[in-house]
Amino acid sequence: MSLSQEIKCKAVELGFDLIGITDASPIDTTQAELLSRWLKSGCAGQMSYLHNNFEKRTHPARLLENAQSVICVGLNYKQPKQKPKKSDPTAPMGKVASYARYEDYHPFIKERLRKLTEFIRSSGRQGHKFKICVDSVPLAERSLAARAGLGFIGKNRMLINPALGPQIFLGEIITTIKLSTDNPITDHCSNCDRCISACPTHALTPDGQFDANKCISYLTIEYKGRIPSEMAEKTADRLFGCDECVLACPYQKNAPAYKNKQFILYNDRARLDLSRILNLTQQDFDAEFADSTIRRSGLERLKRNARICLENINRYS
Ligand code: SF4
Ligand code: SF4
Repeated sequence: MSLSQEIKCKAVELGFDLIGITDASPIDTTQAELLSRWLKSGCAGQMSYLHNNFEKRTHPARLLENAQSVICVGLNYKQPKQKPKKSDPTAPMGKVASYARYEDYHPFIKERLRKLTEFIRSSGRQGHKFKICVDSVPLAERSLAARAGLGFIGKNRMLINPALGPQIFLGEIITTIKLSTDNPITDHCSNCDRCISACPTHALTPDGQFDANKCISYLTIEYKGRIPSEMAEKTADRLFGCDECVLACPYQKNAPAYKNKQFILYNDRARLDLSRILNLTQQDFDAEFADSTIRRSGLERLKRNARICLENINRYS
């Protein structure tokens, strides 16, 4: 068995659903130009960190000297169908996007990538270097994952695996080891445009553009300060994130539910009591969301969103 095959078997044993390998060359120039144009157009909103380290983001070898390969992994997070939790029907509730209902995926994936790295080292590759990346490192991870054959980038901007759909968390190991690589998967969106029609704010457009300034996920999670009123109204009862362009995707509908049961799903985080959120102290918040990506946005933003949801619910009730 080649080292690449051994790595793939180990990644599956560690609970990853997808594994593929690509070389460490820069991402395709067309994609790099698209990213550059998108950033210059102002469509990235306040995400100024995306402007930094453009070279590193598009070229893995800028993150690790002498990098030869990138090992890309994916973790399916599609939720199984379940009955909604019984709650006080009079309590106004805010929706949480499906990815934020799980434990924080960053440490979960990092820990397993660390184990994968140890495995590779133990196979006689001690002299080599490795860099683990899970979202926190500037890297065009979807482009690399697509090149490693994990899926294609859909019109909803998500990496979509034809069998597992668009709900996939990604992680990477950049390494100085030269490994055999996988073939990319070609675009399978074809004439479909369901995600574009499903987007409540027209953040996705038929010509393939995406304006983060109009995206509810960006506004409720990343955006600092007061959300402009015309956009605040459109967030409706979405407290944290938005799933519409993902749930509309036919690949999502046909995908199996997540299978790695070590990855904890908190069913009671699907909808949160808005009045309770507004009464949380910093201490309550830190304790309740210690293991959640919700903690990363902070209590202030969560309360801002809860106030908007309440205004929207009261407006339409
Ligand atoms: S997350 Fe929601 S608002 Fe953002 S592009 Fe998708 S559907 Fe539109
Ligand atoms: S909904 Fe259709 S167009 Fe959008 S990402 Fe899925 S397959 Fe592609």
